Amino acid sequence: MLRVVLFGPPGAGKGTQARRIAERLGVPAISIGEIFRSHVAERTDLGRRAQPYLDAGNLVPDEITVAVVRDRLAQPDAKAGFLLDGFPRTVHQADGLRGLLAETGVRLDCALELIVDEEELVRRLFSRRLSGDVAGVRRKDDHPNTIRHRLAVYREQTAPLSEYYEAQGLLMRINGTGAVEEVTDRAMAALQAAVSRRSS
Ligand code: ADP
Repeated sequence: MLRVVLFGPPGAGKGTQARRIAERLGVPAISIGEIFRSHVAERTDLGRRAQPYLDAGNLVPDEITVAVVRDRLAQPDAKAGFLLDGFPRTVHQADGLRGLLAETGVRLDCALELIVDEEELVRRLFSRRLSGDVAGVRRKDDHPNTIRHRLAVYREQTAPLSEYYEAQGLLMRINGTGAVEEVTDRAMAALQAAVSRRSS
C-alpha cells in the first residue's frame, strides 16, 4: 500500500506514467486534470467554475481543487493507497494535502518528479496538439500560446514542490525521456528505493 504524488511539467508524460505505475502498484491513478475535464464535458457546476481556468492554462483556485481532492480521496478505493497525478501543483496545495492526510492519520510515501527538458516538452505538446494524446484525444489547452503559458505557470508555481518534498525526504527525481517502458521502470525503481529508505 503506497501513497504517491507524481508531478512534472505539462508534456512530461504524467498521465501515461501515472496509469502504468498505479497499475503495477495496484492503487488507483487519480488525475485531477481529468476530473476537471470530465466535469467540463458534463457541464456540471464544478465544470462551469473550472472551465475558464482550464481554457486559459491557469490553475483552478486552490479552494476548489483541494475540495475535489478531499472528496476523491474519501472514496473507498483510495483507502488502500493512491497515485495522485497533477496534484499538488502549488506549495499551498501540498500543505493542504498534508493536512487532509493527517486527518486520517496517514502520510505520503513518495513524491515523484518527472524531469524532461523544456525543448522536448514543447516538441511533445505541439505534436500532441496535432495528433491527440496516446488515446487520440485532442485538448483545447494544447494551443501554442496556452502551452507556453502552462510551462511558465509550472516554473513559477509547481517547480518549488521539488524543494518542498526534498526537505521532507520524500523526493525522487526521475528522467522522463526515453521509451515509455523505461520511464516506468525508473519510476518503480525510485519507489522501491524510497520505501526501503523510509523503512530503514
Ligand atoms: P498538464 O499537466 O498537461 O497541464 P493536466 O491534465 O494535469 O495537464 O491539467 C490540465 C489543467 O487542469 C491545468 O492546466 C489546470 O487548469 C487544471 N489543473 C489540473 N491540476 C490542477 C491543480 N492541482 N490545481 C489547479 N488546477 C489544476
